[in-house]
Amino acid sequence: MRIQYCRNCLLPSTKPDLSLDNDGVCSACNAYINRKEIDWESRKVEFLELVEKYRSKNATNWDCLIPVSGGKDSTAQVLKILELGLNPLCVNATTCDLSQIGRENIENIKSLGVDYVEFSPNKLLRRKLNRFGLETVGDIAWPEHLGIFTIPVRAAVQFKVPLIVWGENSQNEYGGPAAAQGSPYLNRRWLEEFGGLLGLRTSDVAEIMNVPENQLIPYTYPSDGELEEAGITGIFLGHYFPWDGLSNYLLAQANGFKSYGRIVEGSAVDYENLDNHQHGIHDYFKYLKFGYGRATDLVSMHIRRGRLTRDQGLKIVIENDGMYPREYLGKPLERILDDIGMKLDQFEQICEKFTNRALFQQENGRIKRNQHGTPIKVNYDN
Ligand SMILES: [Zn+2]
Repeated sequence: MRIQYCRNCLLPSTKPDLSLDNDGVCSACNAYINRKEIDWESRKVEFLELVEKYRSKNATNWDCLIPVSGGKDSTAQVLKILELGLNPLCVNATTCDLSQIGRENIENIKSLGVDYVEFSPNKLLRRKLNRFGLETVGDIAWPEHLGIFTIPVRAAVQFKVPLIVWGENSQNEYGGPAAAQGSPYLNRRWLEEFGGLLGLRTSDVAEIMNVPENQLIPYTYPSDGELEEAGITGIFLGHYFPWDGLSNYLLAQANGFKSYGRIVEGSAVDYENLDNHQHGIHDYFKYLKFGYGRATDLVSMHIRRGRLTRDQGLKIVIENDGMYPREYLGKPLERILDDIGMKLDQFEQICEKFTNRALFQQENGRIKRNQHGTPIKVNYDN
């Protein structure tokens, strides 16, 4: 098969939830184009009114809760909320394999002058879940994707902070069904539909893995009753203020955020996905399954904003996308796998199982690879 690409950016039609219109332009580009129609001044007013409604009136509670990873976006989120004069409670769900630079950036957010809760789910179970996610749905990051959405909401219920301020709606930046793009709210429905859970529910996992359900508390969304009682509302900051990863990075960097200093393996920049050594495996599987990687996502965002031409972007994608994850943030693959009790040959078999062979060139039944070990695609452009 030939892969169809957006005529404006470089996202492929094989990307889940992405659609190309009759002119061959993708839903992420159209969402970006539509942003020009948005009256950001009135959105800002809307945001301030909302915050006023929820903020603590008698100094007995935090004004809002910010889910933070420690990355450039959450650093910028915290700075913006502080700038508005609010007193946030920051909640961090520890990543599956936290890197040293990720740790430093978490400590940096703490030093910005906020209260900060770090929640680390049971590590022994976490490793089993990483392995299970990789084996069953080809996503090592399954528990992390779930935890970053469930843990802050649980914390909001626990600490009785009703307003949760998320960052960008990924459906908007990366192109999802139009219905989800215009919504300012992140709720259970959004999570189930777009949270990247790949149809795997926590209750199924408990049963298949024979894990008592109470061990999966951190990965379980609070009940409707609990949410109602605490009056929880989750909103996307990106709905009220124009969102841009590079501006967030510049703002974060000016406030102590550290970047990697060279291009992150398989990526196109040095300033994001710095907090988990497993990101490389996650991105590689995306490439094997759908024929695009992190470099495509990043380059496409810059093309949309006129910072790169499509041709310049394409060169970067060919060079960096889908790189075999020999190491990530300097940690060798064998050691990353060792932590989840997996050997290299088992990993290779799982790669094989999840590779969509129709997307790659083959020779004598074997997938052709370039000098970096990256599977070579059937086509890189229309
Ligand atoms: Zn596009």
